[in-house]
Amino acid sequence: MGKTKVMGHSARQTTPLHVPTPQHDPVDSPDYPQACSNIDQHEQLENYIRACQACPRLVDYRAWITDHPAPGFTSADYVSLPLPSFGDPQASILVVGLAPSAHGSNRTGRMFTGDRSGDYLFASLIRTGLAQMPGLEEVRDNTCLPAPHVGDHMELNHVLLAAPVRCVPPDNKPTSLERARCGPYLARELDLVAPSVIVALGAFGWEAVCKTLAEQGYTVPKPRPTFGHGKTVEIDQVTLLGCYHPSPHNTYTGRLTPQGIDDIFTRAKLLAGV
Ligand code: SF4
Repeated sequence: MGKTKVMGHSARQTTPLHVPTPQHDPVDSPDYPQACSNIDQHEQLENYIRACQACPRLVDYRAWITDHPAPGFTSADYVSLPLPSFGDPQASILVVGLAPSAHGSNRTGRMFTGDRSGDYLFASLIRTGLAQMPGLEEVRDNTCLPAPHVGDHMELNHVLLAAPVRCVPPDNKPTSLERARCGPYLARELDLVAPSVIVALGAFGWEAVCKTLAEQGYTVPKPRPTFGHGKTVEIDQVTLLGCYHPSPHNTYTGRLTPQGIDDIFTRAKLLAGV
């Protein structure tokens, strides 16, 4: 394979953002997430999430990040809203990460878009046939050329990207209360999508999925299975598959390699029968 070449995130993106407009004004009630249990359309759920302000600390942090943009960006480049899922709402493979990154998906408003982790993930999805980016002729190692961005017309096949926490947390560490508060969104999504395979990116995603499935009445083994890269656990009709998170910490150290993540998604396809 050729040498990795990264493009896109050191330069300003000029593509206009296409952010769904919330259907109603933001709501800061801590009980607001729980009421999503009545929603039966995926698009409605995403709009509902967009209006959530249930966690004051995270709402404040979203605003702070917008006022402190990364070099090369301005406040106007930041969406800084709760992040909806991205991909195929009929997916048989649900990919669950952690939470938006401050200057990646929190900025662009699209799951896993705008940072190195997302580049790595999308490159693998493209190589394994689970995503298409029109006009893209080459994927080198862990990087799409050009980098995925809002407006790239990326299409995911059989895959939906989700997160257990929808707002960017300081230091990537949501509190247990924030995790619990945001939990109803992943639960509702699991119910609506009914995936046959869930790829958990890292221990946080793994634990969130186990917790949510248990709360949904699935027969999650006790004690709860611990995360492992390449580990699978059958939970009723769902297969949970672990994968190291494609964060720079894991990819720069070689803990997760392009072959390693491709193997996970190839396996997910086989398990899902797609
Ligand atoms: S983390 Fe979740 S529950 Fe908290 S404000 Fe964001 S979307 Fe709402």
